Amino acid sequence: MSKKKVLIIIDGLEENENEFLVDVLKKDVKNTSIGIDEKIVDTGVNGFKSESLICILNILGYPANIYKIYERAYFESIARGYSKLEKKTILRCNIVKISDNRLIDFTGGISKEIGKMLIDRIQETIPYIQHCSSYKNLIFLDEPYQYIKSIQLPPPHFSIGKVIDNRNDRNIITEIMDKSRKIFSDLGYTNLLLWPWGASKKTTLPSFYIKHGLKAAVVSGIDLVKGIGKVLDMVVPNIDDATGDIDTNLENKLEMTLKLLKEKDFILLHINGCDEAAHRKEYDKKIMFFNRIIKVVIEPLLSEVDNNFEVIVGSDHITNSVTGEHADGKVKFIGFKVK
Ligand SMILES: [Zn+2]
Repeated sequence: MSKKKVLIIIDGLEENENEFLVDVLKKDVKNTSIGIDEKIVDTGVNGFKSESLICILNILGYPANIYKIYERAYFESIARGYSKLEKKTILRCNIVKISDNRLIDFTGGISKEIGKMLIDRIQETIPYIQHCSSYKNLIFLDEPYQYIKSIQLPPPHFSIGKVIDNRNDRNIITEIMDKSRKIFSDLGYTNLLLWPWGASKKTTLPSFYIKHGLKAAVVSGIDLVKGIGKVLDMVVPNIDDATGDIDTNLENKLEMTLKLLKEKDFILLHINGCDEAAHRKEYDKKIMFFNRIIKVVIEPLLSEVDNNFEVIVGSDHITNSVTGEHADGKVKFIGFKVK
């Protein structure tokens, strides 16, 4: 019988494709009965950006050039429990800050509490918006996907300094922007507005069990990866204090992984913080968090590797701490199993 597998994906761990941070784990194996298997892998898909949705689905056997995969908002909606999305176009929607009619902050520069309050208030006028966390929201529209895709805004994090469009053609996107600007301003928050982008729609994929014949589960703190698990019909438990950043509760994630291993054949354990630190250009914090992952998650798991299960560790894509951005390139996966 083949062994159970724990696949640990450390989001954005690698800095480049010449030197792999994951290599440090090879020094960590004290148990001489454990064999190491290294693979350098191209997790990206030709024609698609190197980002978690595309790369993780590719690693799981669903390449975007074969399966039709829409943007992240659909997966995030599924993770948050929204249903009946067959006819909806779903967008991500940031609260952003502008100055002199230019975008200056794609996070709005607001606290979590203010973000929630602003969306609570705006729901009276724009009922199809749903708050996620701080500046992040989702909107659900009835207009066709292709149409919304043609009028939506570009990703806000790539639009810093851009002039807010003052075109005369009015549509639902400009209406959302204008209405939000007025409502936020009336509440005393001038220069904030809603920025709808990343149009998405229902994505249908064969279940992980149908594709691989394995009973599977996902342990993750972020909506995107939880949504991937749900779309693939994997078990997706909620983890207490899993924040998706470097302050996450790794102990709880390990505990859940060990619990799920008793009944499942395959566990995807996703840990996001390194990617977030790299986007903030905080290399030291990225490495400190990686060291904590090794101590709290990987070493205890490796000490339990036996004839029943193996552990594979790698990254979904490169996130470089100098540029603060993802980059194309290969990453390394290291497998640990009893010889
Ligand atoms: Zn990232």
